Order: sequence, then structure tokens, then C-alpha cells
Amino acid sequence: MQIDQNSVVSLNYKLSNDAGDVIDECTDGSFTYLQGANNIIPGLESALTGKSKGEKLDVTIPPKDAYGERDDNSTQVVPRTMFPEDVTIDVGMQFAAQGPDGQAMVVVTKVSDDNVTVDGNHPLAGVQLNFSVEIIEVREATAEEKEHGHVHGPDGHDHG
Ligand code: ZN
Repeated sequence: MQIDQNSVVSLNYKLSNDAGDVIDECTDGSFTYLQGANNIIPGLESALTGKSKGEKLDVTIPPKDAYGERDDNSTQVVPRTMFPEDVTIDVGMQFAAQGPDGQAMVVVTKVSDDNVTVDGNHPLAGVQLNFSVEIIEVREATAEEKEHGHVHGPDGHDHG
């Protein structure tokens, strides 16, 4: 069957940036998602539409169809006093912050004596993504999976 709305798809993939660095990969077919439920980035979902089990494809996805462009307004300088005194703040630390759209993850990009700079951009914002994909399995989603908007089963979501 071809990948369409409500297909459950298992993939192997290799994701690299334009410099050729491998950002992420799956080689055992354990990556599974529900097509049409915003489980994966829109650019990859549309590239996979109509494809079938066994097909391989290489697809380059611009930031706007992946994790978006970088937004300089997402960078904020926060007084050091906003953080607990007994916690050492280092570049690269991530924590949840309250933003205009609810909680979001931010990463510390700069620390000075008085201020801490945090960046709310997704780590892959502004990055063009190169996927090399092999389709391992395609099946129709169950009624429950469609209702929940995610995959159930050994490789999917476990409700415990
Ligand atoms: Zn569920």
C-alpha cells in the first residue's frame, strides 16, 4: 500500500546537515509514525506521500518545511538574579521557560557575571535537512491510533 493519510509508516533514515554531519539516524526500522498527524516535519511527510514499502529516497528539506527559520526575537538576556544563586549556569544548559505560547525549552548561549542569554529557537531552526530514507513497512492505522493521533504497539506509543 502507498503512504497516505492515516498510514502507519516504519522507516530507516539518516539525517544530515549541509556540512555532511549526521544529526540523527535510525537503522533498525524502529522509527514509526502516523502520517497526517504532525508526528514528523511537514517536508518529510509530503515527500513520503504516495511512496510504498521498500522504496528509498533522498530528500532535501528547507528550514521552512522543517523546524522553521531562526527567530532572533527568541533570544533573551535575563538577569543572573533570575536563577537560583547556588546553581551554576553553563552554556548549553537547557531548561523550560514560560513564553507567550506556554512552556518552551530554551538553551543557554552566553553567561556573564550579571546576565544570562537564552535562546528559544529549536536547535535545528534555520538548518536545511538532508534525509536519506528507506521505507520498511506501511500499514493502515487502527481506529484507536487515528483517534489518538499517534502509533500504538511495540515501536509506538505505550499507554502503560
Ligand atoms: Zn494512544
